[in-house]
Amino acid sequence: MTKGNINVSVENIFPLIKKFLYSDHEIFLRELISNATDATLKLKHLTSVGDAKVEYGTPLIEVKVDKKGKKLHIIDQGLGMTAEEVEKYINQIAFSGAEEFLDKYKDSAKDSGIIGHFGLGFYSAFMVAKKVEIITKSYTDAPAAHWTCDGSPEFSLTKSKKTERGTEIILHIADDSTEFLEEARIRALLLKYNKFMPIPIKFGTKEINDPDFTPKTTKDKDGKETTEPHKKITVDNIINNPNPAWTKQPADLKDEDYKDFYRELYPMQFEEPLFNIHLNVDYPFHLTGILYFPKMTNDLNIQKDKIQLYQNQVYVTDNVEGIVPEFLTMLRGVIDSPDIPLNVSRSYLQADGAVKKISSYITRKVADKLKSLFNNNREDFEAKWNDIKIVIEYGMLSEEKFFEKADAFALYPTVDNKYYTYEELFNKIKANQTDKDGKLIILYASNKDAQHSYIDAAKAKGYEVLLLDSPIISHLMQKLESTKENITFSRVDADNIDKLISKDDTKISKLTDEQKTELETVLKEVIPSEKFMVQLEPMDSDATPFMITQPEFMRRMKEMQATGGGG
Ligand code: ADP
Ligand code: MG
Repeated sequence: MTKGNINVSVENIFPLIKKFLYSDHEIFLRELISNATDATLKLKHLTSVGDAKVEYGTPLIEVKVDKKGKKLHIIDQGLGMTAEEVEKYINQIAFSGAEEFLDKYKDSAKDSGIIGHFGLGFYSAFMVAKKVEIITKSYTDAPAAHWTCDGSPEFSLTKSKKTERGTEIILHIADDSTEFLEEARIRALLLKYNKFMPIPIKFGTKEINDPDFTPKTTKDKDGKETTEPHKKITVDNIINNPNPAWTKQPADLKDEDYKDFYRELYPMQFEEPLFNIHLNVDYPFHLTGILYFPKMTNDLNIQKDKIQLYQNQVYVTDNVEGIVPEFLTMLRGVIDSPDIPLNVSRSYLQADGAVKKISSYITRKVADKLKSLFNNNREDFEAKWNDIKIVIEYGMLSEEKFFEKADAFALYPTVDNKYYTYEELFNKIKANQTDKDGKLIILYASNKDAQHSYIDAAKAKGYEVLLLDSPIISHLMQKLESTKENITFSRVDADNIDKLISKDDTKISKLTDEQKTELETVLKEVIPSEKFMVQLEPMDSDATPFMITQPEFMRRMKEMQATGGGG
């Protein structure tokens, strides 16, 4: 038997990186800006703990497109690197300087927001560039360094004349990646991945009205007024908002701030959100974020995946499947957590302990918020019920914990626009709506117009009739029937309504026995008996001498089939 080492040489790794490091080539920019941000945040930290005796100032990151020269520049004013550091951090693939820094400054730096951790991000530059240069000047006295690499394992490292502190990365864009020389493309990428990153990012300049200038208005001899044009000044075009709402404390934000942030997140969305939930937890995991309840329709095909996932203010994805419980993917907003492992498959993610905790934390926060809205302003909550019920009902069906909590605020509206909690409903109808075995029969209609005569008849008997029309309501009814003791739901036109013990059994039928038999025979001939039942009972309503009902179980079977069965 022989043993040995598999020899992985850099020659073999480069083409691999280029092809497979990330399936999305566009993320190279996110990685380089993350590094620039890290370099700036590290310097901030070093100055704050006294390890760097320099002025931190108000540093920027700049992105410049040089279409003619086929180059893309990313320039920061962070801590820079000495030649030795370039050797150490850049030439060693998969050695993360970010991790090393966090190890060294452990406690003091844990909230510094430093992003990197795999030590691979920098090399993603080679997915789009045929040659990469690093010109960098450390915050120390060390001379500036100039590193060049054309994607082969050979690199050159020389001195540079750069005098300002910080790092400039120059990408010589490859011929198959010239899309990254288009300003519009780069702007779109910056807005997608870096819109809320913590260091201001400059992309070009823009003209604005000079705030220190007030245009003069003059009158000519005819009394006609003319105002001189506003003086323009050129300023940096900052592409990001370094302090997005979710990074602030809830106490520092007003309702209007949350709405403004919603508009910032969804500039094309004109409808205001109904309410928001600010997530903010430090232990046992880090998570911040703001979720919004948008107005929802009864349509089950609601656009999902509107929640954006960030890590330390860097956009990662808008696919939060596996991280947020499914029923909450109908919400909108952002979640920011450095504790979500993203280099793993989604199915693994769902089994991950931290992710499970995050998911149940979010569920709890949403339930708590709904409960407090219900307690603090019931009227408003009722008014919003129609727009939020689909999420709540879906949550009750799919998350046991949520089901338990939702009992306090889930509402059951009646055909007369009253809203009961389950408990209120129970107390209201327990005396009047039981069958001979003491089983509680909850009556409901699914369509006020179509079922109005049945509704009227039930109301005339003093029954409460709910109006339940969500697409998943039959599943929820089944769930409630199996959880609550001795209850059953029955649609007003179903057969078991006559099993109710009527308070008022003294009503006399308007038909004679003879008429009844006659009518029954006729009706049974025309109405398929396996689908409907003919019922000639004393009725309260004058307009309804008889009723045709459909067995409850039969109708539900059909509904379940239509909505995919199960529950
Ligand atoms: P990671 O960010 O995960 O540490 P990268 O491959 O993205 O890994 O970067 C490797 C290392 O190179 C960083 O940790 C850092 O030490 C150094 N580096 C990269 N870009 C810069 C920069 N703009 N300024 C200073 N150091 C940098
Ligand atoms: Mg990095």
